[in-house]
Amino acid sequence: MRAAQSTTVLMYHAVVAAGEHGLADPRYAVSRAQFLHQLGDIAAAGLRPASVASLLPQPDRAAVAFTFDDGHESNAWAAQALLDAGGSGDFFVNTATIGTPGHLSWEALRDMAAAGMSIQSHGHHHRYLDDLTPFEVEQELQRSKALLEDRLGIRVDLFAPPGGRMPASFDRTAVRLGYRAVCSSRVGLWHNHGAARDIPRLAILADTAPAQFARWVRQDGSEMLQQRLRYAALASGKRLLGNANYERMRRGLLRLAGR
Ligand SMILES: [Zn+2]
Repeated sequence: MRAAQSTTVLMYHAVVAAGEHGLADPRYAVSRAQFLHQLGDIAAAGLRPASVASLLPQPDRAAVAFTFDDGHESNAWAAQALLDAGGSGDFFVNTATIGTPGHLSWEALRDMAAAGMSIQSHGHHHRYLDDLTPFEVEQELQRSKALLEDRLGIRVDLFAPPGGRMPASFDRTAVRLGYRAVCSSRVGLWHNHGAARDIPRLAILADTAPAQFARWVRQDGSEMLQQRLRYAALASGKRLLGNANYERMRRGLLRLAGR
């Protein structure tokens, strides 16, 4: 049974046509067929896709939040699919890469915003905030917000930290700089709408099995616990090794595993 007043917030990256990854990391790229299947599962469960931005002031038990990080060009297709399903989503983009190969253009973002999609900040550059000085962190938050608001004529008040990495009490910094909330990579469900400034998300990867997706949408308790333990183990590995070493080790392990 779904817990009352909890929202499942999904985190996507690229959503690509079969065999066309382009510049997207294949591990994070979901296929269009997978995406449509997932939208179908949500509709079958009597739920609808929605943006975090629309749910912040007005929680809806019948909503599943869809978020997308990195501004991959394929997100324009995903936005249309969400629109066709009668919903919307949040698109967290890096302002430094807008219009560069593999990424959404300003024009595409303008169209998406006009169609009711929520366009939000993933920083100016894709830099891990816990590697930066407090001044640099503020720059990432301010510059991206100002650019998006100025060029798209929209309000930007959600932030997703690149790689989910953030310094301690980061949500307070974000709120001070005009953001309403942070969509992190912490695993869990979104409880306590309105008060929660650090919104957990569940990453949908290329190899996310349909059964697992269904358990997340159903908000299965033991599945959530398992995912949280896994995330805690990964996070402590990052803390112990530091970001650069952790990335090196992860790449090495993936190579060993033949991926
Ligand atoms: Zn990212």
